[in-house]
Amino acid sequence: MFTSLMQQRPLMISSIIEFAERWYPDVEVVSRTTEGPIHRYTYKEMGQRCRKMALALSKLGVSQGDRVGTLAWNGYRHLELYYSVSGSGAVLHTINPRLFAEQMAYVIDHAGDKVIFTDLTFIPILENLLENLGEKLNKIEHIVVMTDRDNMPQSKLDNLHCYEDLLIAESGDYQWPEFDENAASSICYTSGTTGNPKGVVYSHRSTLIHAMGSSVPNGLGLSGNDSILLVVPQFHVNAWGVSYAGPMNGCKLVLPGPAMDGKSIHELLDLEQCSLSLAVPTIWMMLTAYLKESGAQLPHMNRVVIGGSAVPEAMIRSFEQDYDVQVIHAWGMTETSPLGTLNFLLPHLQELDYEAQMETKLKQGKTVFGIDIRIVDDKNNTLPHDGVAFGKLQARGHWVTSAYYGEEPCIDSDGWFDTGDVATIDKDGYMMITDRTKDVIKSGGEWISSIELENIAVGHPNIVEAAVIAIAHPKWDERPLLIAVTQPDTKLEKVELLDYVAERVAKWQIPDDVQFVDELPHGATGKLNKLKLREDFKDYKFPGT
Ligand code: AMP
Repeated sequence: MFTSLMQQRPLMISSIIEFAERWYPDVEVVSRTTEGPIHRYTYKEMGQRCRKMALALSKLGVSQGDRVGTLAWNGYRHLELYYSVSGSGAVLHTINPRLFAEQMAYVIDHAGDKVIFTDLTFIPILENLLENLGEKLNKIEHIVVMTDRDNMPQSKLDNLHCYEDLLIAESGDYQWPEFDENAASSICYTSGTTGNPKGVVYSHRSTLIHAMGSSVPNGLGLSGNDSILLVVPQFHVNAWGVSYAGPMNGCKLVLPGPAMDGKSIHELLDLEQCSLSLAVPTIWMMLTAYLKESGAQLPHMNRVVIGGSAVPEAMIRSFEQDYDVQVIHAWGMTETSPLGTLNFLLPHLQELDYEAQMETKLKQGKTVFGIDIRIVDDKNNTLPHDGVAFGKLQARGHWVTSAYYGEEPCIDSDGWFDTGDVATIDKDGYMMITDRTKDVIKSGGEWISSIELENIAVGHPNIVEAAVIAIAHPKWDERPLLIAVTQPDTKLEKVELLDYVAERVAKWQIPDDVQFVDELPHGATGKLNKLKLREDFKDYKFPGT
């Protein structure tokens, strides 16, 4: 090999905050806090606090490779942990607070979290977990409440610390360490459709390359001109990587805390003059409803990234035609860091009239450099890019996982990862999701397992068989409908069955309605025929929608 003479420096997450602090010191990070008021500071102050927190972590006994969990909304302290935890060599585990108690205890145990940082909001959840599932949480040595002394709660939790007190004790005299760029930087668990959630472990290298790859003009097109309202939660795939890509591009970051309603979101978009925002369709449903009802406008926003589930046509039209905001439809998943494809129109499509463009706008888009996709049939033969042939969507690249934490590799010998989605790809390379291999219900960006609900329902003594399918919902995209067959000669009210389910799942997973039927359709092998069920209930609407 004729070896190059270029420098080889490891790609480190800490280098992002060092860069923002040094070159964009006055750019602001604005947060709506759980305590109430809006908080603002600059990358310069953020950088100093991150170094202090890195020192505090080491005093808590956190060393390289240790896992640190967070239970938090989008806010500046959460952002600081993205850098102080990973930057010091530990691994950030962002816990989805919407997980059901057993699942949450499972992920904390599975990840091996040594310290948990929590927002005030989630203290009762942690207390409940420790009381009822304490044996799963026995690796936790410290709990840090992400607040100041004045707002510290009364709690029976042991080894409780105050975030701001930890910082006050530190000088900030700290040099970020350099280590192998392939070291783990963060873990995010997928909301499992069957069985337990699975952990995806990102590296410093994959995170930096994803942040660079997603920032480009054919990606999110980030620049120092952007003020970004980051609605997508920091506990969902690192807020789609923008927690890193934002500071990397000198963008102003606006973090909405727990307030996700249309009015609160609009208030931040307006006051902080946000040019860009990112979220799942449910959030934008709430925003556009608020805009219509209040007559408010979006004068500063020029683009909106929507993903997590398919973007309805009416939403694209509303943003683009009523408010002059370009919609960037995006697809990705926890396993792909998450950005896989983004929708931008090629020049020849831009020349078409708006109605003709809509066919392409509805698609999930084209890949960016750094990730590759293909569609294959059941025998793994690649399918043509004709916009008609559909098959299993597979991905590979610098920011695609090769295995779940603690499991065997989940890629084939050429590195292809099966996404579980079914898609077409057209001649211009636009991918479109046509189906899901599993029958999950996507509610407001969260997954609900149909199988789990079915299993619970059949546990009721008066139920013989049950099926759960997704029904379109105007606010949540999809909600579960429970279709059940009762024991002959028994009487069961809908509410009795729903109460029974409600005792066993998180509130947002409870089906919106029950339909009793005489029998359920089955396929040749005796399996439930959900395709037929969907067909049977295609005109069904939930009461009041
Ligand atoms: P998660 O890992 O929770 O982010 O979920 C990833 C899954 O969400 C993908 O595999 C798709 O099934 C679905 N998904 C993400 N983005 C889109 C989109 N734009 N359109 C349709 N489905 C999507």
